[in-house]
Amino acid sequence: MTKASSAADLYAANLERAKPLLARLRADGIGHFIGGRTVASSSGATFETISPVDRAVLAQVARGGAAEIDAAARSAEQAFRAWRDISPASRKKLLHKVADAIEARAADIAVLECLDTGQPYRFMAKAAIRAAENFRFFADRCESARDGLNLPSGEHWNVSTRVPIGPVGVITPWNTPFMLSTWKIAPALAAGCTVVHKPAEWSPVTADLLVRLAHDAGIPPGVFNTVHGYGEDAGRALTEHPAIKAIGFVGESSTGSAIMAQGAATLKRVHFELGGKNPVIVFDDADLERALDAVVFMIYSLNGERCTSSSRLLIQDTIAERFIDKLAARVRALEVGHPLDPATEIGPLIHQRHLAKVCSYFDVARQDGASIAVGGTTHDGPGGGFYVAPTLVTGAGAAMRVAQEEVFGPFLTVIPFKDESTAVEIANGVRYGLAGYVWTGDMGRALRVADALEAGMIWLNSENVRHLPTPFGGMKASGIGRDGGDFSFDFYMETKHISLARGTHNIQRLGV
Ligand code: NAD
Repeated sequence: MTKASSAADLYAANLERAKPLLARLRADGIGHFIGGRTVASSSGATFETISPVDRAVLAQVARGGAAEIDAAARSAEQAFRAWRDISPASRKKLLHKVADAIEARAADIAVLECLDTGQPYRFMAKAAIRAAENFRFFADRCESARDGLNLPSGEHWNVSTRVPIGPVGVITPWNTPFMLSTWKIAPALAAGCTVVHKPAEWSPVTADLLVRLAHDAGIPPGVFNTVHGYGEDAGRALTEHPAIKAIGFVGESSTGSAIMAQGAATLKRVHFELGGKNPVIVFDDADLERALDAVVFMIYSLNGERCTSSSRLLIQDTIAERFIDKLAARVRALEVGHPLDPATEIGPLIHQRHLAKVCSYFDVARQDGASIAVGGTTHDGPGGGFYVAPTLVTGAGAAMRVAQEEVFGPFLTVIPFKDESTAVEIANGVRYGLAGYVWTGDMGRALRVADALEAGMIWLNSENVRHLPTPFGGMKASGIGRDGGDFSFDFYMETKHISLARGTHNIQRLGV
């Protein structure tokens, strides 16, 4: 079989697989999952989730508010002690079962994620597998979650241990929602916390599947609950609920600020993974072929709707013209198409409003005096959905809005620089600080620049390659706190100090 015909067969198979899944979604709709059962909103309110491919209604979704959040938070509170106190070995076994259940439905999850978000199948095919890996990774850490230190002093042993913080809220965005939510929910459950998840209103489909799979795999009722709804009502109510001890949030920086204010009265612990305007810096001594591959991948994969996307290319002026020519040819050749077609490299954007936001930057670029070298238009794709042409903006200055603001689409801004210090200055001259990528053949320079960049994660001569034990998170307006490995447990657990006296120290005697 040729490569083209096998891709065509897979596309046809994906379309076939989608049919019964969509029929079921349309017939059943999506409810909240609270205390081990699917429930409607007490008001009966619903909203529609639509496919960005063809604007078709995928499902009516229960629209939750304060009442549903209260029910879910109470349920998580009631389930907390038993979940905290089961043996770590049992918890580990259950989380591995969730991973098994995700793997068993991986093909369905991939297809549903493509249709609900517009993300291309070539990337989503692995989304469920990566989600299962997240569960397995944290399952294997259940037994060490409570580990601490002994810091002995003269006459005491000073032992630290960790205990789960309690019921937590997890609020997630719509980009790669299935994989991303497991990245927050798996460590929370492994730590011994119970969870109320509020998924993004633009992508509720696989969030519903996840909580039901977890329940069927044996996660006890109330341990993992999901409430659908809008940020300003369900999301807000979750951040204000007194039974919820911490909020793990992924989304826009401005929403993070709002959540911090909303959670102030109940002293919420917060963990924020927010926006980015990440630089990729290419020096003239770099391996330019590999750098080009990475530059294209890190902004045009996942529709550019990716927090760690390298949305600013800082290119050394000595090689700028040559590099931009090659880059433009690659961007022109990108395959925009139906997300279920494995040949597709860029699918439709998530929503009409997001499409409008991304397209608004075409005029912003022109008004600021930059040039649109490729793209700069919507794209007439299959189904007539929210497609945009992959866009390359050149001749930009570091202060322009296209060099400062997060566009969150397949939109790359190129800024030339002269030398190392100017590159660092431009890279750091934004409000964000999530990730940075550096391409150079000079290891000394790579380390100097890595040290100087104001960002939580730096990749040298590499695109973003995730390793689960490492810290994930941003500085400045890109976030507060870190996920990954033991860093996740620092957020979902309280560290407790226990001091044991050897019985020999003097105790001051008062009132003798
Ligand atoms: P968003 O902030 O609009 O929404 C995220 C979630 O917050 C949604 O579930 C929404 O309903 C909820 N929400 C909105 N207002 C709320 C409020 N007042 N109280 C409580 N909850 C509220 O973000 P989005 O548009 O869905 O996602 C895109 C953003 O997410 C981008 O900025 C992107 O960079 C960021 N992101 C960051 C990371 C990271 O790791 N740093 C990862 C993925 C996405």
